[in-house]
Amino acid sequence: MHRRQLLTFILASTTLALPLGASAALVRDARLWRSNDKLRVVFDLSGPVQFKTFTLQAPDRLIVDVAGAQLSGDLGHLNLAGTSVRAIRSGPFGHGDTRIVFDLNAPMQANAFLLGPQAGQGHRLVLDLIQGNHVAAPAVLASAPAPEPEPVEAPKAVASRGPHPKRDIVVVVDPGHGGKDPGAIGGKGEREKDVVLSIAQLLARRLKRENGYTVHLVRNDDFYVPLRKRVDFARQRNADMFISVHADAAPRLTASGASVFALSENGATSATARMMADRENGADLIGAASLLNLKDKDPMLANVIIDMSMNATIAASLQLGHTVLGSLADITTLHQNRVEQAGFAVLKSPDVPSILVETGFISNASDAQRLVTARHQQAVADRLFAGINTYFQKNPPSDSFIAWKQEQNAQRVV
Ligand SMILES: [Zn+2]
Repeated sequence: MHRRQLLTFILASTTLALPLGASAALVRDARLWRSNDKLRVVFDLSGPVQFKTFTLQAPDRLIVDVAGAQLSGDLGHLNLAGTSVRAIRSGPFGHGDTRIVFDLNAPMQANAFLLGPQAGQGHRLVLDLIQGNHVAAPAVLASAPAPEPEPVEAPKAVASRGPHPKRDIVVVVDPGHGGKDPGAIGGKGEREKDVVLSIAQLLARRLKRENGYTVHLVRNDDFYVPLRKRVDFARQRNADMFISVHADAAPRLTASGASVFALSENGATSATARMMADRENGADLIGAASLLNLKDKDPMLANVIIDMSMNATIAASLQLGHTVLGSLADITTLHQNRVEQAGFAVLKSPDVPSILVETGFISNASDAQRLVTARHQQAVADRLFAGINTYFQKNPPSDSFIAWKQEQNAQRVV
């Protein structure tokens, strides 16, 4: 069976099997409007929900995850003829959430927002689809609806009106190794675990100074944390991104410069990337399946969901990694000019964009000499911050302080 047919089949059959919970919000029905420049889909809800949207490529898809909600209506009646949407699929996802998948004929951007009850209408989730190229963006987590409702016909002011939740973007900074695991050791006894702890602490301090960020350090001292615990740490804190800081060794002592890695599910992009992943993973391997609590689900369904979620997360990780790598280029040579990919266990959060930064090679004499100085550590931390901040200025979660600030500034300009 074709993979997409298979997914539809599995999702359809699980829908039937799932009893409707009394407390869950319901997605009752959907309506569709067309105008020259956009396609609007309105989902009628039984109450307020949390949702996130993201896009996937090859084939182009738009995913809407509605937290704590079940689909009670049928989306099959929507007339999609003449639109860029080929089909709409839906099914239960995670723990009582609903995933709605738009199969697209062309890349589209989505603008989604919630509307409260007004003029005989109940809670609604509105999705505006606009044709255009769109690099797969990170999941955008939206929060409860603004108390000031807006009619569907005049949606433009919705995003900027009413009190905004203004949540912080949550960054988890992970200093590699620690405790019994010193990481790589330099020619003069420089220890990776000490260098990366200093850089990570400086990065955390820099992020804390900036409005709109909350930062958590996986370790703030010299102790050992298993890789699996590092991933759990980020997921438990609802991280918007995870950055693991390293300074490793290579057999070739002339190898130098910084590199940035993201997870790959299909093998490493280079021998170096594979070697780095093997070194970092050690015996501490984990599987992504257990992380999503999908054990009670059909194993095939679990794999498909992880696959979809992973693809979106990896795309966002690559975008984030690219920005951070460009920023690091201001202060250090780069070992690789592109974001490398390999099977790093510490990057295996299915839903948190994650990168691993090798700040330099501690096995290289001149890299090591710089990496132990406070001045260079500060410079690295500043460039990591700049890369992260540039990324989130471009891709702010819709309910974040940074998104809100941008809306305010945009209004002032108009
Ligand atoms: Zn390391």
